[in-house]
Order: sequence, then structure tokens, then C-alpha cells
Amino acid sequence: MSPADGSIRPVEPGGKIIVAIDGPAGAGKSTVAQHLARHFGLLNLESGAMYRAFGLKALRAGISLDQSPELEAMAANTSIRLEPGQEHNRVLLDGEDVTGLIRNQTVTDAASRVSVFPAIRAWMVRMQQNLGAEGGVVMEGRDIGTVVFPHAGVKIFLDAAPEVRGLRRFDQMGPQPTVQPEEVIRDLRARDERDRNRADSPLRAASDAVLLDSTHMTLEEVVRAAEAIVAAKMSQQNSPS
Ligand code: C5P
Repeated sequence: MSPADGSIRPVEPGGKIIVAIDGPAGAGKSTVAQHLARHFGLLNLESGAMYRAFGLKALRAGISLDQSPELEAMAANTSIRLEPGQEHNRVLLDGEDVTGLIRNQTVTDAASRVSVFPAIRAWMVRMQQNLGAEGGVVMEGRDIGTVVFPHAGVKIFLDAAPEVRGLRRFDQMGPQPTVQPEEVIRDLRARDERDRNRADSPLRAASDAVLLDSTHMTLEEVVRAAEAIVAAKMSQQNSPS
């Protein structure tokens, strides 16, 4: 539980570990985070799902995705909860389970657009800090190691060439995808562009993050590499100084 006054306790060092995983879309963050959570007994929290839920609400309300004041007013009356699940988080938007509604392209695009606004980000960051305040979590996103948990015990920045990330996304779409691979790569580049170039907390690796470029790695290799990074950190923390 968070402290009653809503303040954020320092989460590292000494507390349970926080693993921050950042990187662009399709770099393998979800696969890595899911594995680390299972392997080390951590809660897996997908910060992107919160932006997606909020994007969905804005779409449903028909409000402009490019006007901060309207979005801020909506945020003031919005509750978003993440519940760790086996694979993806269960996402509750104002109490409604929207888990199955937030992965399509329209919501993906909306999430990317609403996430550029500082007031929306500040609200999200507060919620995310509260979720991870106890430690014992792996949180994935774009600004976890830089803004949400700058004191995280482990920071991993996952990257890969856009074509490779786009093709991975395409392969995940099942046997009868409704789009061409080129389209997937184009959408992903557009999101990258927005994430990397926004004025507030742009996507970038924290200076103390371990960089993992998975362009020439299988996801299995990336998962093993990430596991080794976390294991090394945990054994360091547990060894007498
Ligand atoms: O990670 P995911 O693809 O689900 O995130 C959806 C969108 O939310 C991203 O394209 C990004 O623009 C935004 N996002 C963000 N900061 C985060 C997580 C996601 O800006 N920590």
C-alpha cells in the first residue's frame, strides 16, 4: 500500500527491487517483462496499457486527441487500474474491464497522441509511482528509468532496427493479418518519431541503463540476457558489502 498521505517513499535502495524496461514499440519489452516477472516473482506492470486506456476513453468521448485542456478535464474524472495477470495486465477504465479493447491500431495511435501532453504524463507518472511504491515490480514503458523510477535498481533499454521490430509485430498478428508488413513498419516509425521527439520526457535511455540491441538476437536470447542482468544485480544486493 502507498502511504496514507499519498507521498512516494524512496523505493531504492534497500526496498524490493524495481526493474525498469524502456524502449520503442516492438523491441521485445513485453516478452522480457513477462519473463522477468515470472522468473523473479515480481509484479509486471505495463505503463503503456494506461495510456491506451486513456486514449480509448478520449476516442469514445469524441474529444480531440490534440487538445490538452479537454484531455486534462477528462483525466480529472478518470480512474485507471492495472491488475497484474498471467500475460497482459487486466486494465480497468472507470471500473470497466477494457483489456481486450486497447490493442487495436486506432487505440494504439490515440495512446501515442495523448501521451505527448505534460499534464497527462504527470498524472500517469503519479499513478505509476504509486503502483510501484512497494518495489518488487518490473515496469515497462518509455520513461520508466528516466522519469517514473529514476532510482530503479535495474534499468534496461531495449532497442532494435525499425524493420526488425515491425516484422516482429507483423508476425504476432496471426495467420491472416489485415495489413501489410510495410504498413506496420510505417505506423511503428510514426509512433517512434512522436515518442522520441516530444518535448516532455522523450523516449531515451537513462544514462545508467544497460542497452540491449536485439536486432540480431532472437527474443529467447534477449530474455536470457535480461535475466542475467537482473540476476547479477540481485546477487550484488544480497552479497555482504
Ligand atoms: O507500450 P505501448 O505500446 O503499449 O504504449 C502505447 C503508447 O503509449 C506508446 O506509443 C507511447 O506513446 C505511450 N507511452 C508513453 N510512456 C510510457 C508508456 C507508453 O508515452 N511509459
